[in-house]
Amino acid sequence: MARIAIVTGGTRGIGAAISTALNKAGYKVAATYHGNDKAAQAFTAKTGVPAFKFDVGDFDACVKGVAEIEQKLGPIDVLVNNAGIIRDAVLHKMTLEQWNEVLHTNLNSVFNMTRQVIEGMRERGFGRIISISSINGQAGQAGQTNYSAAKAGILGFTRALALESASKGVTVNAITPGYTDTDMVRAVAPEILAKIVAKIPVKRLGKPEDIARMAVFLAADEAGFTTGATFTVNGGQYLT
Ligand code: NDP
Repeated sequence: MARIAIVTGGTRGIGAAISTALNKAGYKVAATYHGNDKAAQAFTAKTGVPAFKFDVGDFDACVKGVAEIEQKLGPIDVLVNNAGIIRDAVLHKMTLEQWNEVLHTNLNSVFNMTRQVIEGMRERGFGRIISISSINGQAGQAGQTNYSAAKAGILGFTRALALESASKGVTVNAITPGYTDTDMVRAVAPEILAKIVAKIPVKRLGKPEDIARMAVFLAADEAGFTTGATFTVNGGQYLT
């Protein structure tokens, strides 16, 4: 029987690469998204992976959304918490709205989604929780106190839940991508982006597929001895 996976924000960028790679590896995948219907429809048409629209920052929407996915696909074996946004500003100019939006979408979402699947995983004795953090949650980044706080929060969540879940066959890990070529990074001004790339030892941006390879590794049944860890995929930009 194919394992069943949810990838949040799985219709664009890194999430789309993870959905596609898991699908190719034989998983039954549900990709979630928030607002971009056109991208989601194009993704489903290209890959055959169904897309489900709900806000991962909204707990009640996650209750309904995961129930619908489970009803259509079956119980969830693998959750990839990937959805994320940026709302950059230096702290002395940051609005409460910018802070809250990023914390809701990037960190509360990890609770909102994981809470829906963790009990079933424990009962069935198998589960994989993989959360996409960021190099900026490790190194910090000016203009991103909200984002860096949310992404660092994911790392603490991962370690604590790994300890709670280890005896139940459920592993919990985080991936910290470096700068990766997606819409999120294409929004950065070209001259700033050129400076960023110059500082990456591998001398290029990450490809979404670079991150997806790590997610597929962690999702595997064979990865059961790997838990509570943070996996850096950043072209050597920040060494931990
Ligand atoms: P993109 O902006 O390309 O895609 C984001 C995806 O998340 C979209 O599918 C989007 O849906 C979805 N999404 C956003 N908000 C919500 C929400 N509230 N509810 C449900 N889905 C939502 O992002 P990336 O692929 O670049 O980033 C993916 C993850 O990787 C993020 O967590 C990001 O922080 C992290 N990351 C990215 C890096 C990079 O350089 N790109 C570096 C390090 C980490 P929709 O299409 O409907 O908008």
